[in-house]
Amino acid sequence: MTRRDDFAQVMKTLECLVRAGISTRINAVILRGINEEDLLPLAMMTRTHGLDVRFIEEMPFNGEGHRGELMWDFRKLREELMKYFPSMRQVPGEPSATAVNYAVEGHAGRIGIIAAYSRTFCGTCNRIRITPQGQLKTCLYDGGVLDIRKLLREGTSEAGLAAAIEKAVMNRARDGFEAERNRVKNPVHESMATIGG
Ligand code: SF4
Repeated sequence: MTRRDDFAQVMKTLECLVRAGISTRINAVILRGINEEDLLPLAMMTRTHGLDVRFIEEMPFNGEGHRGELMWDFRKLREELMKYFPSMRQVPGEPSATAVNYAVEGHAGRIGIIAAYSRTFCGTCNRIRITPQGQLKTCLYDGGVLDIRKLLREGTSEAGLAAAIEKAVMNRARDGFEAERNRVKNPVHESMATIGG
């Protein structure tokens, strides 16, 4: 899936991180017919390793914009995980957290689910991003709401810049669906690598 055959190296690095007590998360996307068999082994890593394994719903930010039926949404992920781990219980999260986290009895780490496509956590989202082209995004799904590069090139003062950013944030879309509807260029297709994560 990653187009690199470096599994042993990745595992070695992972073990080093955990041994050194560095807070570590593994983000994974489960895709129908491609890696469904990885769900349990990945989740099982939390039994022996004090790390977070988080399952993220598939998003259209792949450079192609493919948007088929979402098979592994957060409900299915949770249902499937509950079958394997009946003791799985939601734990309180930080404000504005994007993941819903679960503890499993006897597990050193936690399992998380991120409803990145269903967009059920927009109400508490506090994320903003700046693309490499200098576009401010107040939602992953918008097409850029403020051209910061242009403002900088025009010599806008720091105060002017701060005011423009504040205005953009104050006027952010209600949720990811509204942000997507407001885009000039639709459908969403850009690669996550061009967005800034
Ligand atoms: S507002 Fe946008 S970036 Fe924030 S959680 Fe919703 S979809 Fe994601």
